Amino acid sequence: MATLPIIIAPDPRLKVKAKAVERVDGEVRQLMDDMLETMYASNGIGLAAPQVGVAKRVIVVDVARENEKPRPLRLANPEIVWASDDIQPRNEGCLSLPEHYAEVERPVAVRVRYIDHENEIREIEAEGVLAQCIQHEMDHLEGVLFVDHISALKRNIILRKLVKSRKLAQEVPA
Ligand SMILES: [Zn+2]
Repeated sequence: MATLPIIIAPDPRLKVKAKAVERVDGEVRQLMDDMLETMYASNGIGLAAPQVGVAKRVIVVDVARENEKPRPLRLANPEIVWASDDIQPRNEGCLSLPEHYAEVERPVAVRVRYIDHENEIREIEAEGVLAQCIQHEMDHLEGVLFVDHISALKRNIILRKLVKSRKLAQEVPA
């Protein structure tokens, strides 16, 4: 396994629509494992392939708390087959928008069909943080970031700050 560099917004690679995986073979499994390692190394609870520069419909998620056993989920071609009418705002962050958070409204529960790491079709019913996280990661596959759900004013403030911190980082001599 290897950790991969995470792309920070704004970046055109975060705005592309990812392509479906034909089948989960060794290469896709490797990508899933590398993504999980990258996510754990950054203390994240989810990661989508476009965030590591791979335009494939692959996401990984683990919402287990620090004192709990890890519960990694590897999903290829995830698809929402049912969503609750019940919608709730929750605070959201993203490894591609480090240190920025905003409230995003999403269905509280979803049922998701996907292909697992053994190329089997599965369905999972998720609610709460897990449902929120899966929907957030699935947005990445459409080139959508959580800031695209908030007002343009708030979005631009966050994106400008990210550009500024990137410039500052580049000015620091290595
Ligand atoms: Zn994200």
